[in-house]
Amino acid sequence: MRRACAHHPSRKSVEDYGDRPYCQECRHQRTEAARYVDRSTTPRECFVARSPSGHWSALREGGAAHWVAHELSAKAPPATPACLLGCPLRVDDLLRNRREVSAGMRISRGDIWVDLDGSHCGLVDGVRHHPEKGLQITIRHASRERGVVATDDFHTHFMGRGAFYR
Ligand SMILES: [Zn+2]
Ligand SMILES: [Zn+2]
Repeated sequence: MRRACAHHPSRKSVEDYGDRPYCQECRHQRTEAARYVDRSTTPRECFVARSPSGHWSALREGGAAHWVAHELSAKAPPATPACLLGCPLRVDDLLRNRREVSAGMRISRGDIWVDLDGSHCGLVDGVRHHPEKGLQITIRHASRERGVVATDDFHTHFMGRGAFYR
């Protein structure tokens, strides 16, 4: 026995997505909206929202934090902006319950990197000690400019700016 649609109590659901049941129309609107998600966003299918008036649309902001959250399977705190699968869209929400990696600690793969102004973030992909160049850190991030998930050098691409959180 299928549950009723989360938005249309009189209709039977045809799918469960992000733990919520949706009717045929909701599924159609949901997948249509996902076609307009920015190409740098990964994953795309969940990066949509339904307004109180019933209009489904692609989300515009938060793709970088969203990508990191999916990689770490991090869920958004209650009552904060999230994708349909419950991953946070704001850097601040992603960093809740995490602490800055202090100067004495070693940055390691899987740490979250956040740009100085908090507008962009990514994940530490690799850390190595180069005999001449010193510490080399690569960051994987959803690059809006290039429309892909890219791996870039922390010092040359990001000018060594920002902070790391674990
Ligand atoms: Zn519905
Ligand atoms: Zn998502």
